[in-house]
Amino acid sequence: MSAIKCEHREKVYLMSNDFILDELKALKDRALLRDYKTIESAQDPYIQINGKTFLSFCSNNYLGLANHPKIKQAAIEAIQQFGWGTGASRLVSGNMTLHQELEKKIAEFKGTEAALLFPTGYMANLGALCAFVAKRDIVLGDKLNHASIIDGCRLSGAAFRIYPHKNVSQLESLLQRSSMYRRKLVVTDSVFSMDGDTAPLPEIVNIAKRYDAILMVDDAHATGVFGKQGKGMIEHCGLEGKIDIVMGSLSKAVGSIGGFIAGSKPLIDFLKNKARPFIYTTALPPAVCAASMAGLTLIQEDVSLIDTLWKNIAFLKSRLSTFMDTIAGESPIVPLIVGSAEDAVNLSTKLYQNGILIPAIRPPTVPPGTSRLRISLMATHSADDINRLIDILQYVGFLTREHVKDVC
Ligand SMILES: *Cc1c(COP(=O)(O)O)cnc(C)c1O
Repeated sequence: MSAIKCEHREKVYLMSNDFILDELKALKDRALLRDYKTIESAQDPYIQINGKTFLSFCSNNYLGLANHPKIKQAAIEAIQQFGWGTGASRLVSGNMTLHQELEKKIAEFKGTEAALLFPTGYMANLGALCAFVAKRDIVLGDKLNHASIIDGCRLSGAAFRIYPHKNVSQLESLLQRSSMYRRKLVVTDSVFSMDGDTAPLPEIVNIAKRYDAILMVDDAHATGVFGKQGKGMIEHCGLEGKIDIVMGSLSKAVGSIGGFIAGSKPLIDFLKNKARPFIYTTALPPAVCAASMAGLTLIQEDVSLIDTLWKNIAFLKSRLSTFMDTIAGESPIVPLIVGSAEDAVNLSTKLYQNGILIPAIRPPTVPPGTSRLRISLMATHSADDINRLIDILQYVGFLTREHVKDVC
């Protein structure tokens, strides 16, 4: 075997980093530079960073399942039976028993005929939107829809219109002016990821129907959180069978990883053939599917998890209401709006110095001037944990007299 000689080893072939350094500096100057902490423990309310313990209020692990013994056990057993990797995309040879079983379980859970797994929720949104609408079509979305929806809308090539947040009359007037398009698709988050508020789904269902538009609902934050049985916002609003395309994530309350689309059998067959983020990527490891199934089973078998989460939400909001007139958020997501990116970063740093992890959420994730700390609650937080958060918010000066309600 002859080695290929590398003649010009000494020469520098890499591009200049100047523009990268310039752009990073510009982000830093505007308090918009992002970085992450390294978590050295499992994802529980108490986590380790740099050998120290922090109380985390920023995880989407709403039911605390990410480190649940039954989920871990399910994954271990699946690895022993099926190995780890899948070696190919679903349509080639990556489709295994556990993918089939999980999709059946998701369809049952969501009350649809069928479901299709994607490696992530991001890819599910991209895949579905790009499959259902294209150049001659129009897609209409809420201003605060998740980034993966916005990216899907843009990438689809369809005309893309945004209506003001939760504004159904604006949605209707946009639909009135959309009759020239081949297909119309309305897409909304059910729970908005940065504000924690909820979409007016019953009205949106009626309007979409009236204008013959396809309706797609992203139930990522509601799955395992809303509805008596934790099936999501569609169960909560009694809208089973009325949403054409139901998107969800297994990465949040379910405590695993993966995204899905649930809907009619023809719709799922269509996606198998048209959704590029499904077709051109390797199938999820079977152990991941086993973990997701265990997560869904836990949600089905123990509704007390959801009850505990909602008790925590009520307790946090009652504690905050002593200080604030209005508390945004109708879900485990409770945003504390700070304003400028710099102020949000400073507040986050002060909390961190006092043992609490809540990173600042800044543009472009949220509109300029609305930088915030986004509290996420878990069922595994205790009342003491929530009291500690309130104490420290007071201690660092966020919950001050000007926030105190006039009780006279
Ligand atoms: C998190 C999230 C997604 C993406 O889901 P992943 O499984 O994390 O890729 C999509 N939509 C919304 C509203 C989300 O919050």
